[in-house]
Amino acid sequence: MYQHKVLVVDDNAQNIQVLGSVLKEANYQIGFATNGKQALDILNQSNNYDLVLLDIDMPILDGYETCKIIRSTEKLKDIPVIFLTAFTEEENIVKGFDYGAQDYVFKPFNPRELLARVDTHIQLKNKTEQLKQMNQLLEKKVEERTAELKTALEKAEAMYRLKSNFLANMSHELRTPLIGILGFAEFLKQDLKEIELKEMAENIYLSGMRLSETLNLILDLSKIESEKHEFNFEKVDLIKETKEILNLFSKTAEKQGLYLKSSFSHPSIQINIDERAYRTILNNLINNALKFTVEGGINVDISLQETLVEIKVEDTGIGIPEEYHNIIFEEFRQVSEGLGRNFEGTGLGLSITKKLVEKFGGEISVESKLRKGSTFIVKLPITTDDKISKKKVAIQIDEKKLKFEDAKVKPLALIVDDDPLVYPVMKRYLEGYLKLESTTDGKFAINLCKKKKYDLIFMDINLKRGFDGKQLTRELRKLKEYENIPIIATTAYAMVGDREEFLAAGCSHYISKPFKKEDLLDLVVGILNKKT
Ligand code: ADP
Repeated sequence: MYQHKVLVVDDNAQNIQVLGSVLKEANYQIGFATNGKQALDILNQSNNYDLVLLDIDMPILDGYETCKIIRSTEKLKDIPVIFLTAFTEEENIVKGFDYGAQDYVFKPFNPRELLARVDTHIQLKNKTEQLKQMNQLLEKKVEERTAELKTALEKAEAMYRLKSNFLANMSHELRTPLIGILGFAEFLKQDLKEIELKEMAENIYLSGMRLSETLNLILDLSKIESEKHEFNFEKVDLIKETKEILNLFSKTAEKQGLYLKSSFSHPSIQINIDERAYRTILNNLINNALKFTVEGGINVDISLQETLVEIKVEDTGIGIPEEYHNIIFEEFRQVSEGLGRNFEGTGLGLSITKKLVEKFGGEISVESKLRKGSTFIVKLPITTDDKISKKKVAIQIDEKKLKFEDAKVKPLALIVDDDPLVYPVMKRYLEGYLKLESTTDGKFAINLCKKKKYDLIFMDINLKRGFDGKQLTRELRKLKEYENIPIIATTAYAMVGDREEFLAAGCSHYISKPFKKEDLLDLVVGILNKKT
């Protein structure tokens, strides 16, 4: 059995003898010292004393000083000390505790009391040590877990960066060639005479459009998920917007032999919302309704209720089995999944729609019966919040310099783009509106701008070598002549924050590739009309 070891320190040989026999009988190992200095020597040389019984009044080094040194010596500081003395005054006792004693026993002592105290303090010391060890173990474990979590977090952050970079790069790389594919397919569609070839061009165009729409869906999703995305709240007339959207779909519905009807409770319903987001919501629902309906048609109903607007898109299509009513709002989920799926699509439309609706404090639900049809119901709250944040254009455009519509001399524009296919597409898109020149090289663009005065610049951002579009824009803004000239960032960078980054670099406008002819013309005509 383990024997605890006690050092008895007393200058009186008789005391030592009595104490020794009491402790031995109780199965303690004993060490002796007759003064403080000797006691410290013994303690310093040995590693296994569990307690010190310390007389106070001793020659060379008294009990108080000895205790003080024990407490301040790293190796000894945890050994409990019990003073054993004939000094019974309160001030002596207090002094003893001040010097670091754990307990006090008066001489003449009661052996049972002494043993009880010795035992208590040794147990207390052991428990404290155990606790300390457990604490150290715990600290080590916490440190290890923290290190593991830190590594996991770093890994996750690296993966996130990789995903963002990958998305940005993929988006850029897929969008860039689309301008050529869509542009030239459109020209072929218009120019070819032979029906069969015309149809082929039409199919190239439709495939390109589909790819472009898928890209837009993925981008929309990443934009909505990013907290950085800011919505542009403004008063929107939902009825007017809806009529415009229905117009866009009327041809498709007609082609499919479906009706496309609408019913509105009021001729105009205005709420504070992001116009683009509202269009996305309604587009997605009508798109789906047309996609999943073979006969009959679609009805869009909008009604103003007390605190909300209810938008119902009702179709007579294939319907949705009840167990899918929640699942279809999840990303990438479709009723018909796997290799045998019956309908095209990414499964992203409804999850984007739901996210948008919820961003505006609304909710979306579906009621549907198989083979009878589906009704998607969107409820949007009517906000009284009048904070309208219009997008800011960083550069003030010089208003007087340019005449546009009546101009005999068409405005001169420069395209800076390293993709040589962009120029012929844009040239044809802008025919009759602008005189267009182009360069694929940033340095060369600066020289051109110094020699000539362009009225408008289309600026690609990724120019592969030399200057990039942002640097080039900054350089141009330093030239007096180009301080206020519209510079349109014309780029396949279309991720969250890209537009803002290019505007901050000095571009006045932004359009993402691939763009449709109408979108480009809208932007250019808007800019040039402002100047007349
Ligand atoms: P996608 O249409 O690209 O597959 P969505 O997220 O828009 O993606 O829709 C998810 C799924 O919900 C669809 O694949 C389809 O199974 C079902 N769905 C959506 N709208 C309708 C509808 N109007 N009628 C029948 N099924 C629908």
